[in-house]
Amino acid sequence: MIGLLITIFLFIFYILSSTEKKKIVDNRKVYRYTVLDSQLDPKFPEYVDKILANNGWWSKYIILRDDTNYDVKIQLVEDSDTPSLDHVVKDDKGEVIKFSICTHGFDGINIYINYDNWKDGVERSGLTKEQYRRYVILHEFGHALGYDHQKCKNGSCPVMYQATIGPPKDHKCLYDITPEDFEVRLKNLFL
Ligand SMILES: [Zn+2]
Repeated sequence: MIGLLITIFLFIFYILSSTEKKKIVDNRKVYRYTVLDSQLDPKFPEYVDKILANNGWWSKYIILRDDTNYDVKIQLVEDSDTPSLDHVVKDDKGEVIKFSICTHGFDGINIYINYDNWKDGVERSGLTKEQYRRYVILHEFGHALGYDHQKCKNGSCPVMYQATIGPPKDHKCLYDITPEDFEVRLKNLFL
């Protein structure tokens, strides 16, 4: 009986240590993601892969697509299927601002990209459709990596600023990762 318990213990230890080993390459933590196919935009997975394949952006991590063994699940969803924030944000005209969202929960890390924003981009961000799409994938993946929102300064807003709200006066939203995007960690990963 004790022998069996020891065997089980060693087996669990082996599994845990080998997964941990696989997760660090060149001192960089590996994040594996999957993207669900979408009838809203069949090109969505291809788009996401292209953006996340650029190692120059979230450069302190290794980001790989792996549809069977993943840490992060990304999907494009209708506004009605996007989990809502705990507070409502409105624009100048009093309209409710729609957001994409990243959740850390018992079912892992999930990224929900809001289709209404994805379809044409978001005008108030000052970004073109292509720029907004790149921004929103990098921004939500930043939350998946454990980073929180950033403020704008010196005329520009890092990717971890909420560009969907629009930049403050005399500022521009960026769609490249800057050193500032690595600065603020999320306080609570169980949102
Ligand atoms: Zn955000």
